[in-house]
Amino acid sequence: MAWGFGVDVGGTTVKIACFDTEGTLHSRWEIPTRTEQGGKQILPDIAGAIQNYMTEQKIPQGEILGIGIGVPGAVENRWVVNRCVNLGWDRLDVREALGRLTGLPVVVGNDATLAALGEWWKGGGQKSDMVLVTLGTGVGGGIVLDGKSLAGTHGAGGEIGHIVVNPDETEPCSCGKRGCAEQYCSATGIVRLAKRHLAGTACPSELKNCKNFTCKDVFDAAARGDIPAIETLEQVYGYLGRLVANVCCVVDPEIVVLGGGVSKAGQPLLEGARQYFETECFHACRETRFALATLGNDAGVYGAFCLLQRECI
Ligand SMILES: [Zn+2]
Repeated sequence: MAWGFGVDVGGTTVKIACFDTEGTLHSRWEIPTRTEQGGKQILPDIAGAIQNYMTEQKIPQGEILGIGIGVPGAVENRWVVNRCVNLGWDRLDVREALGRLTGLPVVVGNDATLAALGEWWKGGGQKSDMVLVTLGTGVGGGIVLDGKSLAGTHGAGGEIGHIVVNPDETEPCSCGKRGCAEQYCSATGIVRLAKRHLAGTACPSELKNCKNFTCKDVFDAAARGDIPAIETLEQVYGYLGRLVANVCCVVDPEIVVLGGGVSKAGQPLLEGARQYFETECFHACRETRFALATLGNDAGVYGAFCLLQRECI
């Protein structure tokens, strides 16, 4: 039996998983991400955690295929990370550095791109050409075509959250543009839209009594028939449907997978986005399927291991 590791580096925790070469996940655990001192402890911590696991499980070095690692930043030429603001890293050759610490082959990818590869491999993508739309604190994404995730020349392939879906927006997005999908379809964007809508309507709403409501509160209120919440979500679905329709004009995938925290809203989100997608998509793309992501927070480690297998077998 041979083994490999999938690693997903986040701003607060690093997720590590051990897979066999059949692709079965055997164990997964997390360690804190130590971002102090320019994040210089992050790779040694990962190397230490992997080596401890190998010692505990009595796995010899020769039975390890290597390490696939996803990082929250642009990855050039498949191994050099060009700034990870969340980790404190500037330019860093992760393949060389982690390889030196562990003596193992290392492959590197962007975390969102690898999450898409994970969903393609073992999740909602079902090994079809797919676009993953990650609706979390922000809006990210990943594109997998012919089984390969799109990294792009500058490591920014699949960054669909900053496609403009409303040119009339007056407030700026975090990126400095106005009207990006992230301003409406992220968890924070949905709350912002709800607040804006509540301020402009006389219609009663349970959200008006709640000072700091969350994105989930908006979905819950809508499910209970709260009119302003329903109207807010109609706007969200409209922008999301438009975003996906625009992306499908370029990619023409078989399936669109919705992931991230907001996708816990489930079927109403899926059906709402799909309805608006159908009114805005290019006619040839109308049959594109929609699905929910199924791997949750594990998508990144699955994708990281999938990339490793791709590169090392
Ligand atoms: Zn933006």
